[in-house]
Amino acid sequence: MQGINNGDFETVVIGGGAAGIAAARRLTQFEVNCLIVEARPRLGGRAWTVTDPSGFAIDLGCGWLHSADRNPWVPIAEEQGRTIDKTPPPWRRPSLPQGFPVGRQREFLKAQEEFFSRVSERAQREPDVAAATLLLPDCPWNNLINAIGTYISGAEFDRVSARDFDNFDDTGLNWRIVEGYGTTIAACGHALPNVLDCPVTRIDHSASRLKIETARGTIVADQAIVTIPTNVLAQTENLFAPLLPEKTQAAQNLPLGLADKLFLALDRADEFETDSRMFGATDKIGTATYHFRPFGRSQIEVYFGGRHAANLEAGGDSAFFDFAASELTGLLGSDFARRVKPIHIHRWAADPFARGSYSYALPGMADCRATLAVPVDDRLFFAGEACSTGDFSTAHGAWVTGVAAADQVIRARLRN
Ligand SMILES: Cc1cc2nc3c(=O)[nH]c(=O)nc-3n(C[C@H](O)[C@H](O)[C@H](O)COP(=O)(O)OP(=O)(O)OC[C@H]3O[C@@H](n4cnc5c(N)ncnc54)[C@H](O)[C@@H]3O)c2cc1C
Repeated sequence: MQGINNGDFETVVIGGGAAGIAAARRLTQFEVNCLIVEARPRLGGRAWTVTDPSGFAIDLGCGWLHSADRNPWVPIAEEQGRTIDKTPPPWRRPSLPQGFPVGRQREFLKAQEEFFSRVSERAQREPDVAAATLLLPDCPWNNLINAIGTYISGAEFDRVSARDFDNFDDTGLNWRIVEGYGTTIAACGHALPNVLDCPVTRIDHSASRLKIETARGTIVADQAIVTIPTNVLAQTENLFAPLLPEKTQAAQNLPLGLADKLFLALDRADEFETDSRMFGATDKIGTATYHFRPFGRSQIEVYFGGRHAANLEAGGDSAFFDFAASELTGLLGSDFARRVKPIHIHRWAADPFARGSYSYALPGMADCRATLAVPVDDRLFFAGEACSTGDFSTAHGAWVTGVAAADQVIRARLRN
C-alpha cells in the first residue's frame, strides 16, 4: 500500500461518495488544492453499480433519480452521455393482483394516503412524535403501511420522526440511468484528485492546521469536509481530537435505516409486464416487494427493509434468497422456485463503511440534520445525505450538501 505521509493540501474531503465528489468537484472548479480520501477501493460509496452476468448494470445502492426534474445528477448523466429511462416507477402503478386483488389495493391506497395526511397535519406541531402514533389502532393496513415505511426510511414508523418524514421534499418524478446511477456518480469523481483504500482514523484539530490520520499515513490540511455516513461517524471512537460530542450525538440521532436489494435472474420473464410489482404479503411488516423486469430485463429486483432486512442479514446472503423464494412460490406456485436464481445482494448493514442504507431521524430529532451540518471553527465542514433537511436519504441530497460545504470552505478561505 502506497503511503501518503506528509501530504499537504488546502482541503481534504473525507469520503468519496456523492457528497464528497460534489464537494471536490466544486473546490477544484475554484482551484482549491484538494484531495478526496476514501476508505474503499472504489469511489461512489452507497452509489454502487455492478455488472451482472448478462452484462447489465445493476445498482446495489441508489437506483432512482428522485425529484428528477430538479436532480443535479440528471444533467451530469446527460453530459456523460448516459441513457435516462423515464418509465414511471413500479410504485406509481397498480400492483400485480396475486394475493392483492385490485379492490383491496384501492382500500390500502386510501388508508395509506390518509395516514400520510395525518402525518402532514401533525408533523410541525409540538412535540414531535413517532410517525407510528398516527396509525389508526384498528386499521387492517398498518402492517403494509409500515412495510412501505421500511422501504422509504429503512425503518418502521415507530422509530421515525413524523416531522422529519414530513420534511422530505419530493417532486414525484423518478427516472433511472440504464448504465447505473452508481456508474454515473463514480465517473464524476474519477478525474478529481483522490486516494482510495485509505480509511481516515482520526481528525486532529488541536493545532493551527488539521492533521488527518489515515491507514496510509498523515495528511496536513487547512480545512476538511467530513462526509462519512452517520452510523460510521457515531460508531468510530475518537475520530475527532478533541472530541466533538455534539456531532457524535447528532449522528446517533440520525441513524441509517436499512434497505437491501436482492437481484434474481428470472426464467421465462415475458409472462410479466416490464416494471411491474408485487408484494410478498399484505398483512406483515416483514415482507419484501418484487419489481419484475426492471428495464425489461429478465430479472426481479427484490427490496427488503427495516428490522426484517436486519434479521435476514444475520442469516447471510442465502437467507434473502430463501425468503424471496418462499414468498414467490407461495404466490406464484411451487414451480416458480426453479425459475429464479440469485445474481447479487449487498448487505449494507454489514458494510463497514456504510453500516446501513440511508438516514432517518429519531422522534424529536429532525433538527439534528442542521446541527450535523454546522461547521466547526471555520475549518471542519460537514456534508452527506444526512445533512440535508429536505432531500435526505438521497444521492441528489448528498450532492447539494457537498456543494454547500465546498462553498463554505471557499468563503472561509477568503476570510482567513
Ligand atoms: C439499497 C439502497 C437503495 C437506495 N436507493 C436510492 C435511490 O433510489 N435514490 C437515491 O437518491 N438514493 C438512494 N439511496 C441512498 C443513496 O445511495 C445515498 O443517500 C447517497 O449515495 C449517500 O451519499 P453520501 O455521499 O452522503 O454517503 P456515502 O455514499 O456513504 O459516501 C460516504 C463515503 O465515505 C466513505 N467512508 C466511510 N468511512 C470512512 C473513513 N473512515 N475514511 C474515509 N472514507 C470513509 C465511504 O466508503 C463512502 O464512500 C439508496 C441507498 C441504498 C443503500
